[in-house]
Amino acid sequence: MAELTGKVIYAGEAGYEDARLNFNARFAASPLLIVFCQSVQDVVNAVNWAQMSGVPVRVRSGRHSYEAFSVADDALIIDLNDMEQIRFDRTTGQATIQAGAELVAIYETLAAEGVTIPGGSCATVGITGLTLGGGYGLLARWKGLTCDSLQAVEMVTAKGKLIVADATQNADLFWALRGGGGGNFGIVTALKFQTHAIDKVTIYQLKWDATEIERVIQQWQAFAPDSDDRHTSILKLTPGNSVYIVGQFVGTEAELRTVLAPLFAIAPKETEIETLPYLEAVYAFAGLKPDYPKRLAHWHGSQTKFKNASDYVVRPLNAEGIATVVKFLKQAPSRNVVLQFDSYGGAIAKIPPDATAFCHRQVKWNIQYQAYWTKPQEQAAHINWVQNFRSAMQPYVTGGCYVNYCDRSIKNWQTAYYGGNWQRLKRVKQQYDPGNFFSFEQSIPANTGGRGLA
Ligand SMILES: Cc1cc2nc3c(=O)[nH]c(=O)nc-3n(C[C@H](O)[C@H](O)[C@H](O)COP(=O)(O)OP(=O)(O)OC[C@H]3O[C@@H](n4cnc5c(N)ncnc54)[C@H](O)[C@@H]3O)c2cc1C
Repeated sequence: MAELTGKVIYAGEAGYEDARLNFNARFAASPLLIVFCQSVQDVVNAVNWAQMSGVPVRVRSGRHSYEAFSVADDALIIDLNDMEQIRFDRTTGQATIQAGAELVAIYETLAAEGVTIPGGSCATVGITGLTLGGGYGLLARWKGLTCDSLQAVEMVTAKGKLIVADATQNADLFWALRGGGGGNFGIVTALKFQTHAIDKVTIYQLKWDATEIERVIQQWQAFAPDSDDRHTSILKLTPGNSVYIVGQFVGTEAELRTVLAPLFAIAPKETEIETLPYLEAVYAFAGLKPDYPKRLAHWHGSQTKFKNASDYVVRPLNAEGIATVVKFLKQAPSRNVVLQFDSYGGAIAKIPPDATAFCHRQVKWNIQYQAYWTKPQEQAAHINWVQNFRSAMQPYVTGGCYVNYCDRSIKNWQTAYYGGNWQRLKRVKQQYDPGNFFSFEQSIPANTGGRGLA
């Protein structure tokens, strides 16, 4: 029998209660054991042990899966969070990052070299889950999704073999690892990225009274997805008294003011614009700068339970669509809900939908329905609000969803996440994991099905 190595914690042992929990407090799975791998060999040993013992596995890095797909009852959790080395090669401008690294550590290490990769805004999201599903953030319209800067991946297969996927080796797998979603093909142990030079950026927040909501939506959707490629913009609608647009521009304040002219036409009640070092902007959007909490792109707290869902949009919402938005915000179960529009276009749209597994290249923006609560009695109303809101919006959206905003309630998740790339993804799965060793509620299936010894 293969031996488990690394830091191994069985149910009931010291540290288990912390080790089993994910970020979304809505879930509390009870795995059989968790292995915190310290090396690639620990990962290989964990795979071999699971193959021999028949215990199902889940793979985990940053624990941020919306639906906690990285944990399960009675499973072996192969956790890579302790493998967090970040190395930067000044000659090539490439960064090699171990799978467990969290975003803020990456931004900090790379900022010290004057470079970055386009990633998400939450400090503690794991680089691996983010990249495998795509990776959207406030540099997305400038340099694309996180997976668009990916150059190579190191992965342990279901057979316990370490392989490399890049443009020339295992190229089909490399295609699938750029948008095909986490947990499907193997255990990623390291990722290599091309970095981008960055110095200062200009960030902003514009605020209007909620009475302006219709005009702000109309103006944002007419302008944000087609604006200057250096500009990424997020519209935030809440049941409160205000509506906000936040964003980031890779350029000066004077240039940004010209870019934002269509929004100034509605005369914001408050305008905050600031040029600052890129890392300071990261802290601002991550909520790590005490004076900037309102810019937060996502909410979080250790006890926070949440339900999020997403949609994609190709055509501006008409008056009916906007009225639906306003109606659901008025019917919100609490103030702890947000409807967020993330602008696409720019560099995201320059890559064809079938060039990587991430297919939502030609959309204008992503809608995020977000609801947060802490008390059990608040749960049903918040989940219902997200689901009913999303249902009511179906006439105005593409039917596609972002796999990193996974949602257990989506019945046709195969085409919703992957569109026309679904069949090719299944072929890659068949090639690299024919026994379906890596499986979870919304995993890409191998044709053979079942849990075999691939
Ligand atoms: C507060 C918050 C903020 C977010 N902000 C953004 C954002 O700004 N932009 C954005 O695009 N997304 C964002 N997301 C979504 C995020 O991209 C996904 O939840 C992502 O999958 C998280 O990856 P993880 O490694 O942290 O999570 P995990 O829960 O560890 O893993 C997520 C998925 O990837 C798989 N996986 C994990 N590690 C590996 C590995 N080593 N090899 C293979 N598969 C693996 C898991 O099995 C699981 O299916 C946010 C999520 C949260 C909760």
